[in-house]
Amino acid sequence: MRLTATHINYYHICHRKLWLSMNGINMEHSSNTVAEGKLLHEASYPQRLERYSEIEIEGSKIDFYDAKNKVIHELKRSDKMEAAHEWQLKYYIMLLDQNGVEGVTGVLEYPKLRETKSIQLSEADKMYLQLVIGHVNEIAASEICPPLLHAKICKSCSYFDFCYSGE
Ligand code: SF4
Repeated sequence: MRLTATHINYYHICHRKLWLSMNGINMEHSSNTVAEGKLLHEASYPQRLERYSEIEIEGSKIDFYDAKNKVIHELKRSDKMEAAHEWQLKYYIMLLDQNGVEGVTGVLEYPKLRETKSIQLSEADKMYLQLVIGHVNEIAASEICPPLLHAKICKSCSYFDFCYSGE
């Protein structure tokens, strides 16, 4: 399966989730969390649907791109997995950069918390992301599914039933 920004996000949350997704086992479409996320986008900033574009680049979908100001807006429900959100957004910026759209920045937005965080991609970030991409591909190619995380976040993960139904 093609590596996307979602996989960069999963890499920073759970390697098992990453492995499952990259090996074609997907639960996101049936997850309430994902549906809620889409509703959050629409309810928080309905005007964006007109002003910002949805773009797809190398299989990664950016929901809100402000082409005039070269800013990607990424909305999230909570900041619990902020590192994963940041790297996902930085990966989008890198993809645009690699495709000739330079000088893009990002804003992570948490409407429920009324917080925003501005995101830039540094040269060090680009090097780190290259390492992550290599590691993601290694994990995906492994014949062994990584172990259960046994963490709090499992309860809100779309793979929860899949992972824990046998326990
Ligand atoms: S339920 Fe937990 S162990 Fe399973 S994929 Fe999700 S985060 Fe990973």
